[in-house]
Amino acid sequence: MVKIIVQKFGGTSVADGEGRARAIERILAAKAEGYQPVVVVSAMGRKGAPYATDTLISLVKEINPEVNPRELDLLISCGEIISTVVMAHTLNSMGHPAIALTGGQAGIKTDANFGNAQILEVDPMPILRQVMEDKIVVVAGFQGIAPDGSITTLGRGGSDTTATALGAALQAEVVEIYTDVDGVMTVDPRVEPEAKILEEISYREVCEMAYQGAKVIHPRAVEVAMSRQVPIRIKNTFSDAKGTLISQSAAERVITGIAHLTGLSQVRVLSSRDGQQNWQLVRVKLFRVLAEKGISVDVISVLPDGVYFTVSQADGFKACQYLHEAGFACELVENCAKVSVIGAGMQGVPGVMAEIMETLYSAGIDILQTSDSDITISFLVPESQLKEAVHVLHRKLGW
Ligand code: ASP
Ligand code: MG
Repeated sequence: MVKIIVQKFGGTSVADGEGRARAIERILAAKAEGYQPVVVVSAMGRKGAPYATDTLISLVKEINPEVNPRELDLLISCGEIISTVVMAHTLNSMGHPAIALTGGQAGIKTDANFGNAQILEVDPMPILRQVMEDKIVVVAGFQGIAPDGSITTLGRGGSDTTATALGAALQAEVVEIYTDVDGVMTVDPRVEPEAKILEEISYREVCEMAYQGAKVIHPRAVEVAMSRQVPIRIKNTFSDAKGTLISQSAAERVITGIAHLTGLSQVRVLSSRDGQQNWQLVRVKLFRVLAEKGISVDVISVLPDGVYFTVSQADGFKACQYLHEAGFACELVENCAKVSVIGAGMQGVPGVMAEIMETLYSAGIDILQTSDSDITISFLVPESQLKEAVHVLHRKLGW
């Protein structure tokens, strides 16, 4: 029985010879432990690097920002393909037989939703055939093939999803995601220097952290792994830190982490003081106006005397304009940030909200709005107070 490990290396890990050398050390170490490594790579480097995804996008968008989505996918899929060939060639040159495969060649079949395709099916055979010949398979992340043979991409950050989808299809023992941080942290270290690495975290919690703004792994990748119970380990290509294990059985704490999103605007629609007769109807209709204009809303509070919600900063002004045109009175509060406290163990535990409210109040933070789900409590605050809000919460909630 072969033991398969999927190892995904992000853009910074494959950007240059030094990163690739470290990546190859990890691949060979897995081999030495008796695993058959299946490697997934992202495009080389970040924005500005010659073959990075953003650089490829700018090649055509500079000519005309309206790019045919099928052709844009064909173009940006090249970033990962270049990376596979460089990686496989390096391995071969060192005497380790390897083969580079595109997503389609590796058996990843998607729908034809260019730019954000969903994986429909993964045929494990093309990879298994190579594994049987003892080759290290290097697969281009972030892409698949549509029913008509067109190359598709899986949405930004989609290489993580390639890795977990392959892990599920190949029944890998573990999927390792190599990046340039030591693991999943309690909070973004750029905002809070006292951030700590989490040794383990559950699928649900990390998924929520990712949706609420943590950048360490793509949430869709976690969902795919969770559906087949494939454990994920997040590790740093450049350090020997143990990393973070993501699994079903991770102990769920009351508070596991804090995530944040910036670039939000709050829209406030208030019922007029003279008692708008049709206020009930107004509350219903205003969401239709925004829906028809394709504006997505979040942090929604529909109250007897007002309706509050957030939109992306880019949509804020437009949203208010559309609402004014449709006869609604609204106010716009720009430069807001959403801070989310996440912990699967908070469900049914009294006092979490009390603690958070007291902490933020003592620090003089303006809470513009709150929302919550079973494992999350979120606060909208002025972006100027984001750092302080995160800092006091992180201090107070146990780190
Ligand atoms: N290169 C792609 C992107 O930047 C996919 C990835 O890195 O996961 O979105
Ligand atoms: Mg990524």
